[in-house]
Amino acid sequence: MLKVSNLFVNYGGIQAVRDVSFEVKAGEIVSLIGANGAGKSTILKTISGIMRPKSGLINYNDRAIQNASASSIVAAGISQVPEGRHIFSGMTVQENLEMGAFLHKRSESLTSTFDEIFSQFPVLKERRNQDAATLSGGEQQMLAMARALMARPKLLLLDEPSMGLAPIYIQRVFDIIQMIQSQGTTVLLIEQNAKQALSIADRGYVLASGEIKMTGTGDELLANPQVQAAYLGGA
Ligand code: ATP
Repeated sequence: MLKVSNLFVNYGGIQAVRDVSFEVKAGEIVSLIGANGAGKSTILKTISGIMRPKSGLINYNDRAIQNASASSIVAAGISQVPEGRHIFSGMTVQENLEMGAFLHKRSESLTSTFDEIFSQFPVLKERRNQDAATLSGGEQQMLAMARALMARPKLLLLDEPSMGLAPIYIQRVFDIIQMIQSQGTTVLLIEQNAKQALSIADRGYVLASGEIKMTGTGDELLANPQVQAAYLGGA
């Protein structure tokens, strides 16, 4: 579904991503793990068209998208949940969700999408008329994920969805990611929380200093002594 080949991305003179290649197959959860500054967010921003690569190819369903606009990438079926959630404050929960559905042309399809999202996220239904800024951090993360799903993506990109959340919400976020997969959406997940990200992943990649250092199934990486020492607290 998504194939990234020999990707290089720079910030001025800084090489943030170096010769990165990986793929995500339809139906999978793929986790990209790595420490702060490893280049994870830069890769996601490049896939979603917010940044341009210096070189390399990004193929999505056999179409080259590395030079496509962000809006045409969303229209093609890729949505991103950004790091830090970026909820629109001063707007209600429902209005935030509507922003995620800007590509819907027909109001009937919008109504049925709302019904589905509210059945998956009952807390957002309860709070739909509340200013989104008044939600807790965990609820805001639910809203950010639900807003991305309003576009009915085929591939969902998640940038550190568990960051800064209380443990109860961390577990909930990973449960929701599995629910999203079970409903047919493919997921590329970027996380510092390596243990949980690999536990739910079909496959994973370990990124350090802008390069892919290791790959394997989620279970293989969880059992790998180097991964354990560097990312799982020696677990
Ligand atoms: P984090 O978890 O902290 O977001 P990350 O793995 O997502 O880390 P990136 O944010 O992709 O890492 O950053 C990769 C490298 O690019 C780092 O060395 C970072 O300092 C650098 N970088 C990121 N954004 C910029 C920017 N706007 N200008 C210059 N350098 C940047």
